[in-house]
Formats: sequence, structure tokens, C-alpha cells
Amino acid sequence: MKFLRFYYNDKIKTAYLDDKKVIELKDPIEKVLKSWKTRKYMNNQVKTSYSIEDIDFAPPVTPSKIICVGLNYKDHANELKMEIPNEPKIFLKPPSAVIGHDGIINYPKSSNEVDYEAELAIVIGKKGKKIEADKANEYIGGYTILNDVTARDLQRKDEQWTRAKSFDTFAPIGPFIETEMDPRSQNISLKVNGKIKQESNTKNMIFSPQDLVEFISNIMTLNPGDIIATGTPSGVGEIKSGDIVEIAIDDIGILKNKIM
Ligand code: MG
Repeated sequence: MKFLRFYYNDKIKTAYLDDKKVIELKDPIEKVLKSWKTRKYMNNQVKTSYSIEDIDFAPPVTPSKIICVGLNYKDHANELKMEIPNEPKIFLKPPSAVIGHDGIINYPKSSNEVDYEAELAIVIGKKGKKIEADKANEYIGGYTILNDVTARDLQRKDEQWTRAKSFDTFAPIGPFIETEMDPRSQNISLKVNGKIKQESNTKNMIFSPQDLVEFISNIMTLNPGDIIATGTPSGVGEIKSGDIVEIAIDDIGILKNKIM
């Protein structure tokens, strides 16, 4: 199932994708992610249908927090000549940084070096803490795409990563939440203006999504709609004003954003 949200008369609507049709649902996405497996629930949910060409994508969720993992691909660790870490290194991006598919990334005045980072993102479907890895799938509502946009010059200068990672619009997510996919067999790639810059497969991840849910939920409670970004593969680099950046993950689709 592919879920999404879209803007309609200043409101955000929940929907699922049926071929090229967008089927609007009554409940907010957090509720739908918990309940969609029951046929009766879904039959009661269906409202209007729209053509996908006619909608403006909203971010698929409104997270209470975005937890990101640094260095989680073997190819990226090799590229940086860094050792494979023995536990995940995590940091946060604020919910205020979120934009959706087709949203504009704003190039901040205080940076001269803004980078893209293609990442598979876990969407939490059910509240939980101290979740064991073998129970994690009960808490994972699905997967989406996140671009961990980073002001690299400020990251080097500050040492602390908060400023570099937190500008408004620095967390594009979407376009869909895919509820039924194998997160360890997905091709992940990123293009800038149509040219391939990153190309890997999620099988190269060091820590699996389930391991990350266990590690993070032993620190903080995870709420429905929260996002865990699972790290970027090799090939990170710069984007300039006017560039179009597209991230593709096999079973999810393409997240496209322009930077201005
Ligand atoms: Mg990252």
C-alpha cells in the first residue's frame, strides 16, 4: 500500500494511491497507518478520488522528531576512510525542517556549501519504547525517502551538527509511505539535474532498520509519524541554487525538490 498526503484548500488530506488515482481517506495518516490492514476500516474510510496530476503533495507525515543516523553504509565509510562504527551515531533534525515532494529547498544566506544526502526513512506507525529488534516491524508503519540536506561548511565549523542540519526546508520527505517492502533489498540513487550522483543498495547498510528502532527506542519514546533516516550511501556532494535533486528508491518512488 502507498499512502500519501496532499494539500487541499489549506488543509492536509490523507490518501492512498490506486494506480494513478489518489483516493482520499477520512482519518489522519497516523490513524490510517495503525488501522489500514482491516478491510472494514478501509471500506469506511474512502472519500473522493483525484487524479495524481491534480494534487499538490504534502509531507506524508508530521513527525514529532526526525532521528538521523550518520555513517550507516559500508561504501560511504570506505569513501571517507572511516572505520565501520560498532554502534549507530545519531542526531536530530527538527520537525520545522520538513517539506514534501516538489517543495522548494531554501539555500541559506549563512552557508556557501549545501549538500544532498539520499536516505531511506522509517516511518513509525505505533508508539513504543525499549522495542526489541525482532519486534520492530510491529512498530514500523512503512518506509519513505528523506533528503538529509546539510550545510557542510557550517557542520565543519560548528562541530555540533544542529545548525548545519536544521534550516527550514532541510528535510524533504515523501512522496509516499510504502507499507509492504523489504527495506534491505532496495536500489537507492540520487540525481542532480538528471545526472547520477549516488547509487547503492540498502543491503549495504551497517545497521538494519530493526536494529535502529531498538537502539533509538532505548533512548527515546517513538511516536506515530516519527521518522528515522537510515543514513546515506557514498557519493554525497553539493547542490547549487536552481538545481533539481531527485532521490529514487525502488518500491517507494521518486522524491524531487528544487533548491533556490
Ligand atoms: Mg545523513
